[in-house]
Amino acid sequence: MRFDLTALKYLNKDDFRVLTAIEMGMRNHEIVPVDLIQSISKIRNTSVRRILANLLKHKLIKHTKIQYEGYSLNFLGYDFLAIHSLIKQGILVQIGTKIGVGKESDVYLCYVKKVNSEISDELYNQIKENILTENALKEQNRQKKLEEKNNIKKEEEENEEKKDEPEEEEEEESEEELSYIQNDLPKTIQTVVGELTIACIKFARLGRTSFRAVKSKRDYVKSQTHYNWLYLSRLSAQNEYKNMKGLYSHGFSVPRPYGYNRHAIIMEYVPSYPLNKVEEIKDKNTVYHKMMDFIYKLGSNGLIHGDFNEFNILLNIEKPDEIVVIDFPQMISINHSEAENYFKRDVQCVKNYFLKKFNLTFEEDLKFSDIKQINFLDEELKAYGYKKEKEKDKKINKEENEDKNEINEEKEINEEEDIDLGQQLDYEKEMIENMKKIKIEENEEKKEEKKNKKMTKEDIKNKVKKMMNKQNKIHVKESKMGNRFKGKKDISNKMAIKNA
Ligand code: ADP
Ligand code: MG
Repeated sequence: MRFDLTALKYLNKDDFRVLTAIEMGMRNHEIVPVDLIQSISKIRNTSVRRILANLLKHKLIKHTKIQYEGYSLNFLGYDFLAIHSLIKQGILVQIGTKIGVGKESDVYLCYVKKVNSEISDELYNQIKENILTENALKEQNRQKKLEEKNNIKKEEEENEEKKDEPEEEEEEESEEELSYIQNDLPKTIQTVVGELTIACIKFARLGRTSFRAVKSKRDYVKSQTHYNWLYLSRLSAQNEYKNMKGLYSHGFSVPRPYGYNRHAIIMEYVPSYPLNKVEEIKDKNTVYHKMMDFIYKLGSNGLIHGDFNEFNILLNIEKPDEIVVIDFPQMISINHSEAENYFKRDVQCVKNYFLKKFNLTFEEDLKFSDIKQINFLDEELKAYGYKKEKEKDKKINKEENEDKNEINEEKEINEEEDIDLGQQLDYEKEMIENMKKIKIEENEEKKEEKKNKKMTKEDIKNKVKKMMNKQNKIHVKESKMGNRFKGKKDISNKMAIKNA
C-alpha cells in the first residue's frame, strides 16, 4: 500500500501552524482546547476554526466534546508534521510503498535527496506538486489499466466472475509498485531536485499496543509517570536514530541513518528479506557466525541489542551471506541491571532460529562471561543503564549505584522531553517559544492564585483585627465611664493586636 500524501495538496503554512500547535498543546493536554491552539499558533480565532475543519476533513486530527471541546492529533497528522519537516529540511522527497509492518512501526520506501540542506518555499511547492503529479500519473495509469481489463473481461466473461477482480488487482498493484519504486526514479521529481537515493522511512507507532505492555517492555518509559503515544513514539525514534548513527559510524553492519524528525527515521534501504521470510540460506555456518560475531562485537562495545531475532536481521539479496541488523530503540548498556538476561535471550534467539528452521546446532557457544568491554559506546550513546565515568571510579555500593543510575535515566528522559523534534524549522522554533511563554504565564498565574489564597488569610486576620478594635473602642468607652480595671485590659489587648 502506498502512503497517501494527497492531503498535502490542501495544506498550507497556517494549516501546519495549527497542526503543530495541537502537537505542542498535547504535551500537557490529552485534548487541546481551541483557546490554547489559538494562542500557540497565533492565528485569529475565526481562521483557526476554518483550519481545524480542514484538518478534520483530511483525518489529521480528532474532535472531542466530552468534557470540554478540543482537538487531538491522529497518527496521520503526526506523520504529516514529520513529513513536512523532512521535506523542508531537504532530506525527503517522496514516499512510496509500505514494505514492513512491525509491532510498533510502519516502514515505507522513499526517496531522499543526495545533499541535504534546507530548501526554499518555491522548491517545497514544486516537490509537493510533483509528488502529486507522480501520484496522479500512477492513478491515471492504474485506472486506464483497470478500464482496459474490465473491457476485455466484459467481452469475455460472465457477470459472476467479475466479482473476483478487486482482490487480483490489489496483489498485482503492490508487485508493480515495488518494481516501480525499485527500478525507476520518478523523472519529474528528479528534474526538480537532482539526484535521488532510494531509502526507507520508519514511523514509530507506540500507542498501537497497550501502554502497559509498552511500559514493561521498554526501559525508556520506566521513570515516566505521565506519557502519551506522541511522546513514546518520538522517544523511540530518537533512541533508534541515535543508536543507529553510533553503530554505523563504528562500522557495524546496520542501515545508514539519513535523518529523523519526531517519530520518523529515514535510513538506507537494504534490498533484503528478514530471516523469518528466507526459505534457504546458502552458507548457514557463515551466517550463524556473523550473527554471533555481531552480538559479541556489540558486547565488547558495551551494548546489547535486546531484540536480536529473525525479524530484525536482514539477509541482503545481492550478497546472500551478508547480514544487516535493524530495530534499535530498545538497545541497552552491558552495565544495565538486566543485561545478562537480555544477552542470553539474544543468543538463544539465534540458536533457536537455526534449530527450528534448519534443524542445526553449532558447537561454539557465546556466554555473557566471554564479553570483555573494551569500548564505551554505551556511554557515548547514553544507552539505558550505562555507568558514568565517576561512578565507575568510585566504588559505590551496589544499591547506591543502582539508585544513581535510575536518577541518570530520569534526568536523561526529562532532558529529551525538552522539546526535541529533530532539526527544527523556523516556524516550529517560534511555536515552541510560544508554548514556553504560555507555560511560564500559566505558572505565574498559579503563583498569583497561591498569593491570592494567602491574601484571603491576611484578609481574615485584618477582619479579626478590625472586630477586636471595635470591641476595644467599646471597652475604652466603658472604662472612660469609670471602670479602670477594664481600661487596663484594653491596653493589653491593643498590645496583643500590635504584636500579632
Ligand atoms: P519494528 O520495530 O516495528 O519491529 P523494524 O525496524 O523491525 O520495526 O522494521 C519492520 C520491518 O520493516 C522489518 O522486518 C523489515 O522487513 C523492514 N525494514 C525495516 N528497516 C529496513 C531497511 N532499512 N531496509 C529494508 N527493510 C527494512
Ligand atoms: Mg522489528
